Amino acid sequence: MLRCRACGGAYFGAGTKGRNGFYRYYACRNRQTKGTYGCQSKRVPAEDLETAVIDDLIGVLRCRSEAVWACEQGVGLLP
Ligand SMILES: [Zn+2]
Repeated sequence: MLRCRACGGAYFGAGTKGRNGFYRYYACRNRQTKGTYGCQSKRVPAEDLETAVIDDLIGVLRCRSEAVWACEQGVGLLP
């Protein structure tokens, strides 16, 4: 689940009709319900956020596989 960096509130996906057709975005629930008083965060276009999440996941997976590799190397180096 996505969390807002500014207030820790939950992010939710929504959509609205914009000038260039349907526009999907994610927004902080506190911002949506309480306005800028509740949270200062901005809406994030769904495509941007999904790309960032996928990049993050790829980064995590790469990191994990490197950790496993390092572990195996470490085991191999033990006397
Ligand atoms: Zn927020």
